[in-house]
Amino acid sequence: MEQLENLSVVLHAKNDLRLEKRPIPEPGPKEVLLKIDSVGICGSDVHFWQDGRIGDFVLKKPMVLGHEAAGTIFRVGSAVHHLKAGDRVAIEPGTPREIDEHCRSGRYNLSPTLFFSATPPDDGNLCQYNTHDANYCYKLPESISCEEGALIEPLSVAIHACRRGGVTIGSKVFILGAGPIGLVNLLVSKSMGASQIVICDLSLKRLEKAKQMGATFTIAVEKTMTPQELGQKVKQTLGGAMPDISIECTGAELCVQGGILATKSGGVLVLVGLGEPSANIPILDMLIREVDIRGVFRYCNTAIRNLIQPGTCAVLCCR
Ligand code: NAD
Ligand code: ZN
Repeated sequence: MEQLENLSVVLHAKNDLRLEKRPIPEPGPKEVLLKIDSVGICGSDVHFWQDGRIGDFVLKKPMVLGHEAAGTIFRVGSAVHHLKAGDRVAIEPGTPREIDEHCRSGRYNLSPTLFFSATPPDDGNLCQYNTHDANYCYKLPESISCEEGALIEPLSVAIHACRRGGVTIGSKVFILGAGPIGLVNLLVSKSMGASQIVICDLSLKRLEKAKQMGATFTIAVEKTMTPQELGQKVKQTLGGAMPDISIECTGAELCVQGGILATKSGGVLVLVGLGEPSANIPILDMLIREVDIRGVFRYCNTAIRNLIQPGTCAVLCCR
């Protein structure tokens, strides 16, 4: 019989990435062994490779990269009954290790002991075979390729962000940043029923893409722009109205400030972009106008059908 190999992309230290053969792991009773098909390269993979850390997550021992993945079930553990060999699945990289208070309240992404693929010390999926908790593998319908299945992970970040912001039918949404995460927030806002979406970026090329993907208006940010000017520009663009929800996807201090000033009184600013640990923000303006600021850390429950709001991407109803 042909000997199977498990070539894996392993980060040993900052700027030390190696392709090496690892043993094929054995699935535990509640796990599946997957033949990995597609893996997206996220900004965080690049950060770990270039810096050896992201904030408090520090690489201390070799780690396989990759957390945006889909593959085919190769073998199932003895207690797995809802999946079988040959099923193609999207992999949710964050799986709780214990049923703590966060898990019990449904917010398992906040659990401090969460396993998360390709976040030190947990190995990721940029390899040929890997095991994963079967309850966090979602069967893909025939209409969705494994490549698209891998992209459900970044899409989930946007579903969580739009839910945290309360995007619904008729919402006016302002998205700061038109990178991959800003663009998935655009798609999810639209599918949740937003009626007008304004998106801003420094890059005209990225704004062009946003326009193609359905942004109602785009704003080209200039480096010299003040947050007040950005807030005013958004209001002007919306014909004098202010957005109900702003979703910050750059991490830039100017955008956090502009996001607060642009949002209508009583509205919500969702912070997705990972910037500096501290920022100078117009806190009095936020306070007197009751603009709520809500953080986003990855996602939870984005693949559970009955939690998806009406109109949300059908791509996720695949379990
Ligand atoms: P990206 O770098 O591809 O995109 C960021 C965009 O912001 C770029 O298009 C850039 O031109 C734009 N930008 C930067 N400074 C700006 C400014 N001053 N004004 C206007 N636009 C500006 O990154 P991405 O992959 O789209 O991710 C976006 C952010 O989301 C990153 O900070 C990433 O770390 C973060 N992220 C957070 C989570 C989470 O769980 N909170 C999950 C995934 C990604
Ligand atoms: Zn990612």
